Amino acid sequence: MPPEFTPVSRELYLLEQVHMALGSAHKLDDFYAIVVGLLVAPDMFGFSRAFIIRYDEGHGRFRGRIALGAQTETEHRLFHEDLRHEQDDLRRQIFELEKQSTEPAGIQQLYDLRYHSLWVQLLQGKEEGTTLNGRFQEVCLAADELTSDHLLNRLMQSPHSLQLTEGDAPITGLEQFLKFPLVGARLKTRRGLHGLLIADRSFENKPVDHTSLIAFQSLVNHASITLDNVELVEQLTENAQRTRELDRLKTNFLSIVSHELRTPLTSIIGFAKLLSSGTAGDVSPAQADMLKRVVNHSTHLQNMVNDVLEIAEVESGGFVNVNLQPVDALAVLWRVIPKMDSRKSSRDVIIEPLLSNHVPDIRCDPLALERIYFHLLDNAIKFIPHQGKVTVAFEQVEKHLEITIADTGIGIPPENLKRIFDHFYQVDYRLDRSYGGLGIGLTVIKLLLDATGGRLHVESAPGKGSKFTIRYLLA
Ligand code: ADP
Repeated sequence: MPPEFTPVSRELYLLEQVHMALGSAHKLDDFYAIVVGLLVAPDMFGFSRAFIIRYDEGHGRFRGRIALGAQTETEHRLFHEDLRHEQDDLRRQIFELEKQSTEPAGIQQLYDLRYHSLWVQLLQGKEEGTTLNGRFQEVCLAADELTSDHLLNRLMQSPHSLQLTEGDAPITGLEQFLKFPLVGARLKTRRGLHGLLIADRSFENKPVDHTSLIAFQSLVNHASITLDNVELVEQLTENAQRTRELDRLKTNFLSIVSHELRTPLTSIIGFAKLLSSGTAGDVSPAQADMLKRVVNHSTHLQNMVNDVLEIAEVESGGFVNVNLQPVDALAVLWRVIPKMDSRKSSRDVIIEPLLSNHVPDIRCDPLALERIYFHLLDNAIKFIPHQGKVTVAFEQVEKHLEITIADTGIGIPPENLKRIFDHFYQVDYRLDRSYGGLGIGLTVIKLLLDATGGRLHVESAPGKGSKFTIRYLLA
């Protein structure tokens, strides 16, 4: 014979079961089924059937009812036999834990038992609209009948579990299902009254003892917390979906706006160049100077528009078709360096590749690597206020190649390091900041790295400089 439940082990058993209910309840319906399942566990509470009656606070009435339990005495007995085995097992384990420790068995230890309830298995296999193992029934009654029932209303008013006996009037509409004695309690969540939990003993007519009533109340408390969590998860999921949708709309918007801006910008730059070349007539030195400024500023604007378009493109999956292949990371760097010419000369910066060893090929997408280099070098140059050096070093570390782009610029304060990859985030966000940019280069880098299997590591010291190391698997 397994040892009897002590008050502590009973509580632990309950917690463990509720923990499992929480872990496996993805929808409210799963959750109900599991809670109800707990109620009918033999020996535990001694109830054979349980009902959850939902309360619709908006309309002030009861609705949607689920009733689960054995329909006949034979089913009730069979069901108890099934569960007795697993319960005995768990009880033995709890008993062992209690024996080993002078403290009551720790909840964590109990969870570690990784005990899988037959109930949870049964319920997880449940398909919508089917009855569990044919042993359970679902009852639906007219909401109006229930709303006027004074017993339900009494349960609703009571802060504690109540035991209702033969002397109390039957619950209207449910009398054919419920048998006395029964216990009931309200399920309250942060949102308000959720419903009522009722359990009866249809196949045994013994009174509900004090311990069972306390255990029932404890279950109801745990159930309310679990329900709160389920509601919270639902709410979070809903919010996350909404945020994703808004994010998608924003990306679409950015993409459309940048496309629209690109065409007139190309014309402005093109015609300004034509004018300054003298095609449309002689150009005075003053006019040439002005046209040069028009071209420079428009090109700067064009670069920013391209950056925005790039992020929109990568975010909307435009870069999903990456073409992973062996890539010579040094050759790609040589292709990018000339593009940095105008940027680095305006700040008196030199770029110096450090080449001590042979640079092995990596597994990457050449176009993605080009864009990663471009953004990293652009930042490295941009954040050097005047005169400085950007070095690019290559190092093979076991099966990876590490490419480190280091600058002697302003550096990044440690508290900002985590956020620099966020969209539009800039350490210096003032409008009069001297470094320009839109705060999307690193976001693009992160998306490209994710798409091509690369990693990035940043080290930085304010006032001394920053080091961005990308890491790729060798080809
Ligand atoms: P942007 O450079 O357009 O502002 P990024 O997404 O590339 O946008 O970078 C985000 C922020 O991270 C920058 O605004 C800057 O504050 C910081 N940052 C990035 N690279 C460097 C660097 N090499 N040195 C100093 N700060 C940097």
